[in-house]
Amino acid sequence: MKVKTNEKSKCSSQKSQVITKLSQIEKDLSYFIKDNFWTKEFFTTSSSFFLNGFNPGEEATVIKLLKKAGFVCIGKADLDEFACGGSGLLSKNGILTNPHNSQHITGGSSSGSAVMVTKNLVSFALGSDTGGSVRCPASYCGIIGFKPTYGLISRYGLIPLSSSLDTVGILGSNVEKVKNIFSIINKKDSRDLLTLSIKKSNKKDTFQKINKKIAIIKGLEKYLEIGLERLYHQVLNYLRKENFLIEEVELPKELRENLQLAYLIISCSELLSHLNSLQGIVYGRKENISITKKRSDYLGKEVKKRLLMGAYFLDNPQHLEQARKLRSWNDKWVKNIFSNYEFLLFPSMNSPAPKTAKVSSSFAGSEIVHWSDNLLLIANFSGIPSLSMPIGMVGDLPVSININGPFGKDKEVLEIAKIIEDKNNKSHMLKRE
Ligand code: GLN
Repeated sequence: MKVKTNEKSKCSSQKSQVITKLSQIEKDLSYFIKDNFWTKEFFTTSSSFFLNGFNPGEEATVIKLLKKAGFVCIGKADLDEFACGGSGLLSKNGILTNPHNSQHITGGSSSGSAVMVTKNLVSFALGSDTGGSVRCPASYCGIIGFKPTYGLISRYGLIPLSSSLDTVGILGSNVEKVKNIFSIINKKDSRDLLTLSIKKSNKKDTFQKINKKIAIIKGLEKYLEIGLERLYHQVLNYLRKENFLIEEVELPKELRENLQLAYLIISCSELLSHLNSLQGIVYGRKENISITKKRSDYLGKEVKKRLLMGAYFLDNPQHLEQARKLRSWNDKWVKNIFSNYEFLLFPSMNSPAPKTAKVSSSFAGSEIVHWSDNLLLIANFSGIPSLSMPIGMVGDLPVSININGPFGKDKEVLEIAKIIEDKNNKSHMLKRE
């Protein structure tokens, strides 16, 4: 397959012209990877001028595993610089717009990966999810975005944002594909000591829908766009008909209102520690200028802002302490939910992708405005599997639901997603609202 484009730092749209010429079989075996994973054939820049021309000389474990299974990585996908963002507007290569409507954002930070799959240039792509970065663009682009249980996939060769939260994620055009890729890369790796091996059972137990209980969050509807609310209820009704029991649960006020803040404190503090290596010695530009000047010249303003916040939080550990408390509170709440229910379900985002102009006018395009728009964080904080899948269109933009399962129950999450997907396909539920 001759698609190993002689890519150095081409932007995604240039790559896509090469890829459209691929046959279907070639497309099925090729994939894009977010540019914060180490690759041998391509530079690894994390979409930052700071890492222009960086070649780690080694490749990430996930790439090796996929290679062994016959898959070919054909290029790197743009992201919000160092995975800091949720818009697709913060790459050194320029902005990425939504394939369904170019006036709207793609979501991020795995924006490029989502665009490649949405445009059907490949059937899957890899991304990373620290606070929703696979599921948010998947939701805005109308594809599957899966964040498996924390620790199931090796992060060796993934440039960290916040390693207590970072998870390799899969973006795909359908559930079956995502499941297949997950089964290939779900392997314990001695080079990522946090990888777990959860016993895989070989027996093909069929998924019992009867009496499976799904928790939904009380009071969420009033924050959803009307079209999305209607489609969300349509899915719930369908699941009821399929013998799932659906009940409302309360998300405590303190938890929902502070999740985003706790995320900011933890992720910025961890980012600062990780990016300390960005001094132009091992990583980064080698010019003979001070580290301070290099950072100020070559890092984007969102990353700089987060590094400053990280320095502040590390200097004022009472904030970290509070954030940790909230994190363990989140954990307790999640455990409690899963002692009574098999799944937790809510809309992935509370609206379709917003307009680019609206997002870029907020500082660095990364502000999250409402608690109902950051529920994806629940899964990162507690390490549980979480999948976003499309349920229909509002106008010309897709909207999605997010399905969460207990720690290690990735298979079950993929199975219920398949049931909903089959229904969508049969009833053409992905119609406009
Ligand atoms: N939107 C989140 C952020 O800006 C998500 C980042 C991620 O998951 N990599 O931090």
